[in-house]
Amino acid sequence: MDLQSEAARIREAAAKAIKTCKSIDDVDAVRVKYIGRRGELTLLLRKLGEVSPGQRKEVGKMLNAIKDEISSLLAERRKEIETALKDETLRKETIDVTLPGRRVRIGKLHPTLRILNEIIDVFVGLGFTAVEGPEIETEYNNFDALNFPPWHPSRDDFDSFYVGDGYVLRTHTSPAQVRVMKSQEPPVRVVVPGRCYRRDTPDASHLMSFFQIEGLYVDHDVSLADLKGTLAIFAREIFGPETKIRFRPHYFPFTEPSAELDISCLVCGGAGCRLCKQSGWLEVLGCGMVHPNVFKHVGYDHKAVTGFAFGLGVERIAMLKYGISDIRTLYENDLKILNSL
Ligand SMILES: [Zn+2]
Repeated sequence: MDLQSEAARIREAAAKAIKTCKSIDDVDAVRVKYIGRRGELTLLLRKLGEVSPGQRKEVGKMLNAIKDEISSLLAERRKEIETALKDETLRKETIDVTLPGRRVRIGKLHPTLRILNEIIDVFVGLGFTAVEGPEIETEYNNFDALNFPPWHPSRDDFDSFYVGDGYVLRTHTSPAQVRVMKSQEPPVRVVVPGRCYRRDTPDASHLMSFFQIEGLYVDHDVSLADLKGTLAIFAREIFGPETKIRFRPHYFPFTEPSAELDISCLVCGGAGCRLCKQSGWLEVLGCGMVHPNVFKHVGYDHKAVTGFAFGLGVERIAMLKYGISDIRTLYENDLKILNSL
């Protein structure tokens, strides 16, 4: 065999293979194949002994030169591949700092919930504790214990959602009064926020589901003056320091006397405008002194304790504060409107 021509063939084949290498692994494979410990050229070098002594030096020199050449071609190709990989990585990780940033949109609480929290904060500041009651109530807690006579129209199927024998979706947060008083002795000072349900046909001022906040203060010396003073602070905190209040006599089964609270009109301040229907006043909530019959139902001594209670519609307050004329606006989920509130 002619070592020289075999070496030349290996040189050609190796050079060709190196050119087609796509990865470091390819380069390694070519190195192993030709100049590794059992590589084609390595095996050829071992055959040098068979060459006649006269030619051995020259042939040896040639084979070693080819080995060096293949080595440096491999090193060159390896470097090319490494550079290409690095460039590719850099290209992939490039950040264009001139691009505009992605806007992070921050959500916010629904206007009803915001007002609800605001109102609770006012009363917590006055020493009230916020508690909750169940939305499915016993008919007894929702009506009987609150002195609703059996013939009272709001018990009617047309006004309440009955959910089985003796149970009703609470029509107001007042039944929580009963639960609180049955579970503790006076003094009691609580506000009860929560969702209520009535079988109303939705219109500009009614929904079938809405939020109320109930307030209850019972102690040995609670008077109508305490009620008025507490609600005056509430009105000023929620509607502004200039807000005036007045009581209008009313009827609720569970309070005696009962009243509705009006605040001076937020738009005209009392002069008369479209919002207040020229009266100068806006109706805000119902309230009164806890009826002795309610105390009897919960086992309090109605001769020893007195108390006041009030209940307000959270959506009503939100509408007044945000100038909304239709309560349904709050729940139509129109983001344009909700974001503007
Ligand atoms: Zn007005």
